[in-house]
Amino acid sequence: MKDELSKFGKVKENVDLKNYNTYKVSVNAKYLVEVKNVDSLNELIKYLKKNKIKYLILGNGSNVVLPEKDLDGVIIRLNGLNKIEIDDDEVYVEAGVMLPKLVNESVSNCLAGLEWASGIPGTVGGAVVGNAGAYLSDIFSFIIDIDVLENGEVKTIKKSDVTYSYRHTSFKDNKDIIVLAVRLKLNKGNADESQEIMKNRLERRIKSQPLNYPNAGSVFRNPEGDYAGRLIEECGLKGKRIGGAMVSEKHANFIINYDNATAKDIRDLIKLVHDEVLKKEKVDLIIEQELIDWR
Ligand SMILES: Cc1cc2nc3c(=O)[nH]c(=O)nc-3n(C[C@H](O)[C@H](O)[C@H](O)COP(=O)(O)OP(=O)(O)OC[C@H]3O[C@@H](n4cnc5c(N)ncnc54)[C@H](O)[C@@H]3O)c2cc1C
Repeated sequence: MKDELSKFGKVKENVDLKNYNTYKVSVNAKYLVEVKNVDSLNELIKYLKKNKIKYLILGNGSNVVLPEKDLDGVIIRLNGLNKIEIDDDEVYVEAGVMLPKLVNESVSNCLAGLEWASGIPGTVGGAVVGNAGAYLSDIFSFIIDIDVLENGEVKTIKKSDVTYSYRHTSFKDNKDIIVLAVRLKLNKGNADESQEIMKNRLERRIKSQPLNYPNAGSVFRNPEGDYAGRLIEECGLKGKRIGGAMVSEKHANFIINYDNATAKDIRDLIKLVHDEVLKKEKVDLIIEQELIDWR
């Protein structure tokens, strides 16, 4: 199968996914393919579907909790989709580009608006799927339209044809759509001012988030008018551990890989936190990270 797969891009066999998810959870995938371009992605998906092979599109793995068991299938990474084109205040960016790179490129062209994304370690594709955001802004605030691959067809869909809300979009519920690229309209700005905002935001992140341990950002969405972190802290769960996973002492809405955590440790701790907050605070927290199931 390796020879077949290598038609579509660079192939790795029997891969430990530890370096492909920011929780640094160790689980094996039979193959990992870094596709060359949209055509090779399209052909690869057709091949996998025809042969009933399981697969997962993975961005930077910074918003996922991988499954406990190994994947007898293919992880697809969109490394080849790495173009950024700027035309006046519009930016066309492909799904494999990392958010900090997009922000730097925009700011160097005096385009403002995305400064909030400079500290988010995800790809543009992952950001669109989860409507990533921070400091009261999000990526959908800037989207004009989105190029997707669906049923072997590349098409452009308008923002108004997508259902989206705080940290959620209809793409999350439809795994048959792959985000290829997005067209954004940014604000004309000043590079020095943007740099200052980014510096300020980064300082806030360093102060408030446990960035010295592997994690995948906020575990739960903030309920309306409140903070998941406050509720979790109120339940006395800071520092709570299951195996190698721990509720961060620095920020209660972060779970960290404290000591060789397994996917099961993290999943069990997420469930414990959810159930305790429901029992003690009567709030049914909604998970922001994605508990992946190999399909
Ligand atoms: C330290 C830290 C801080 C963070 N801060 C924030 C924050 O402030 N705000 C925020 O919103 N998030 C934050 N995150 C979470 C995360 O970085 C973002 O949600 C990011 O946008 C996820 O991108 P990704 O490429 O890592 O997606 P992944 O985790 O790889 O994937 C997420 C989901 O999207 C799917 N997917 C990925 N790419 C595509 C594609 N092209 N087409 C279709 N499906 C796709 C995957 O299959 C998966 O289901 C943080 C994470 C960390 C580790």
